[in-house]
Amino acid sequence: MSNKTINVTCPYLPSYEEYTEEIKSLWDSRWLTNFGHKHQELKAILNKYLVNDDILLMTNGHLALEMCLEALETKGEVITTPYTFISTTHAIVRSGMTPVFCDINEDDYTIDVNKIEELINENTVAIMPVHVYGNICDVERLKEIAEKHNLKVIYDAAHAFGARYKGIPVTNYGDLSMLSLHATKVFHTVEGGGVIVNNKKYTDVLRKLKQFGQNGEDCELAGTNAKMSEFHAAMGICNMRHINDIIAIRKERYEKYLELLNGLDGIKLNYIAEDVDSNYSYFPIFIDEKITGFNRDMLLEELQKNNIFARKYFYPICSEMSAFKDMTKNETPIAKRISLGILTLPLYVDMEIDDVKAICEVVVSFHKSFKTK
Ligand SMILES: *Cc1c(COP(=O)(O)O)cnc(C)c1O
Repeated sequence: MSNKTINVTCPYLPSYEEYTEEIKSLWDSRWLTNFGHKHQELKAILNKYLVNDDILLMTNGHLALEMCLEALETKGEVITTPYTFISTTHAIVRSGMTPVFCDINEDDYTIDVNKIEELINENTVAIMPVHVYGNICDVERLKEIAEKHNLKVIYDAAHAFGARYKGIPVTNYGDLSMLSLHATKVFHTVEGGGVIVNNKKYTDVLRKLKQFGQNGEDCELAGTNAKMSEFHAAMGICNMRHINDIIAIRKERYEKYLELLNGLDGIKLNYIAEDVDSNYSYFPIFIDEKITGFNRDMLLEELQKNNIFARKYFYPICSEMSAFKDMTKNETPIAKRISLGILTLPLYVDMEIDDVKAICEVVVSFHKSFKTK
């Protein structure tokens, strides 16, 4: 084992030359933000790739989520899961709404659609499910439930850029779908986000919200500032030239993990459902301590000793964060159990197949050392 440090992730970058070439024209135009040429070009590229005609680019994914909720122009309860990045819960609370936590599936970690209806009451206004690790929620069932109860669906699709369900980009589901284009995501603009507007009723209000509520000289609502700058859009244009390679390289490393970690008792590998084309954004493993004889934290430590930095992602679940300690919450035992045993292993474009092999060797030999005890 070498002393090379392998972090859980490492942002993709185009070459320095490619990026600087892309931003050169900004020194002539001096049009640095406010819907310039780069912004328009990236929008067109993304609409084509995501097979949509209405993506709104934002400063980051979190603000995009907050604005999606504001765009509903109502208040009430939002059914979501606690098994997500804290941004999802924050967005609901900061929008003056109340998160109602629904439990998740054991196999793919997304919202358990069979437990949603029991949480719906006269105060419920929306469902905010999360596509986790590139795994896809049961989008068809969610649509049925939402229609039956007259609720809006806003997806947190931060992990799901480019993921497809039955060949259709998954961001085309829901009234609105939020994307994060943060540096650590499969496709990024350094910081950035977007909303895919499937319910056109919301296009206008979102467009106003992201630019101070302005409409000509007038301000029609109390907006915010979530405009994507030309420099960020330029990074996106460069990265989109490589998106097919980015996903293909991730897939190769993902599949190497599957091959080398297959069949270890008590270590559950990620599961991709049949109709889903993943974007291979993360490689989570779940350690069932009762079977392995060791817990997640022990494996995390063993990896660290070998300069490999995995991540407890997601842990703790959002409902257990101290920011929300005074809130009344439903029990979500499966989400809690998963959060105690989950570990995401390093996965990024610049890692070598040999890095994957080295990581798997540590996991396999640690696992074996407990079998023989
Ligand atoms: C990254 C992420 C966000 C927040 O996106 P930012 O672009 O970092 O603001 C929200 N939800 C999930 C699930 C995420 O992974």
